[in-house]
Amino acid sequence: MSKENAQPVIGISEAQLKQLLSLLDTKNTESKSQPHTAAKPGLSKVASRSWIIDSGATDHISSSPQLSLGTNNRCSLPPVLLPSGDKANIVAKGSMPLNSVYYLHNVLCVPTFKVDLISVSHLTRDLNCSVIFFPYWCILQDLATRRMIGLGKQHNGLYYLVALATKNNFTNHSSATKNNFTNHPTCNLTVSPTDLWHNRLGHTSPLRLNFLAKKFLNFSIQSNKPCPICPLAKQSRLPFSPSVISSLKPFELIHCDIWGRYRHPSLSGAYYFLTIVDDFTRFTWIFLMQHKSEAQSLLRRFFSYVLTQFNTRIKTFRSDSGGEFLSLRSFFHDNGVVFQHSCVYTPQQNGVVERKHRHILQVARALRFQAHLPTQFWGECALTATHIINRLPSPVLSFHTPFELLYSKPPSFSHLRVFGCLAYATNVHPSHKFERRSIPSIFIGYPTGQKAFKLFDLSQIYTCSSFLCCST
Ligand SMILES: [Zn+2]
Repeated sequence: MSKENAQPVIGISEAQLKQLLSLLDTKNTESKSQPHTAAKPGLSKVASRSWIIDSGATDHISSSPQLSLGTNNRCSLPPVLLPSGDKANIVAKGSMPLNSVYYLHNVLCVPTFKVDLISVSHLTRDLNCSVIFFPYWCILQDLATRRMIGLGKQHNGLYYLVALATKNNFTNHSSATKNNFTNHPTCNLTVSPTDLWHNRLGHTSPLRLNFLAKKFLNFSIQSNKPCPICPLAKQSRLPFSPSVISSLKPFELIHCDIWGRYRHPSLSGAYYFLTIVDDFTRFTWIFLMQHKSEAQSLLRRFFSYVLTQFNTRIKTFRSDSGGEFLSLRSFFHDNGVVFQHSCVYTPQQNGVVERKHRHILQVARALRFQAHLPTQFWGECALTATHIINRLPSPVLSFHTPFELLYSKPPSFSHLRVFGCLAYATNVHPSHKFERRSIPSIFIGYPTGQKAFKLFDLSQIYTCSSFLCCST
């Protein structure tokens, strides 16, 4: 864990501190929406109840019976023992919402209680957060993303919960996205938004699609039609150790591995791909390779890319003990990079990449089956799968997307198309008056570093800045 570059308050950026202070200084913000920008983590006032954040409380306690919503209502628990020695009866136990995102669980309903208490020990588990106390306020910080998700204000020696993050605060661009993607020409208007986005997003799960539909895409999930592609692409889940984030900021730690050798060459002649996963954001890059030995030069270039584009240096490199990585020892040594490798390979030691490979291949399979493309398109499928996965919310990131954590702005979805769809690309240089004005092609992905589309016209791959999409 890095000790350099310490921030003013552990894990809290300057922008968050300013936001925190402005919230504390604002008196009348109850019903007015806060003009947060997309790049700043947003908090909204906690409505209705006055919750006291109590490090001494062994349970959450509320006096409001009508707010008990859990399944354990009408329990027969022993009474609560008060500091005065009196006892107070518990009439119910259940879950209660703090806002539209966060819930407290196992809240004891004690009608005779004069205050509502949040137990710090339970809160940290319910919200997967830490609670840090300061002289005049305390903050709740998400353990996975290190983002501030709540704020408490000290009053008369007690800390009251005053603000919490809402899912809509972090990004505010759903209307812009809606306008963008509906403006694109399409010939097929009969596909429901649910099916269209399920296909565009690599047959993502209903949970992720529902989240994206509400947060970014601005439509309601409607269709429950069984998808014929998903069962072909998804393998049964194998046991895997839980994923944890071991870094405090992007590029503090990257995970790396090589997938392959695959029995069929890709269109470009590749048999492998190199995978790099940033630990903090889970943003993923893959590079197709004909030979494993290409990994060395690709990694050197990646280190330069990070330095130039993100103005930071990769601090720790984690991989298995493959010869391609061991041969970079002197490079790591010269650049001050900590090289963590497993002496004896076990998947668990490199679990982040193993898990990512599984996800990439699952999405890639779905793309290939959906497009009815032959096996040699596996490289395009894997590249497109990675492009999509970087824009999908992840449970390990508290349902943020890798893209927004890396770039501090919401990902764009307006450019996404259904992999394998028929596309009519404009022929910008017709050689004579009677030559065709468009080229019928297949859409096969998003070229890196260009605002364009990768198309296949049955004889060659080329890129195109726009095309008419004639499929779903
Ligand atoms: Zn599907």
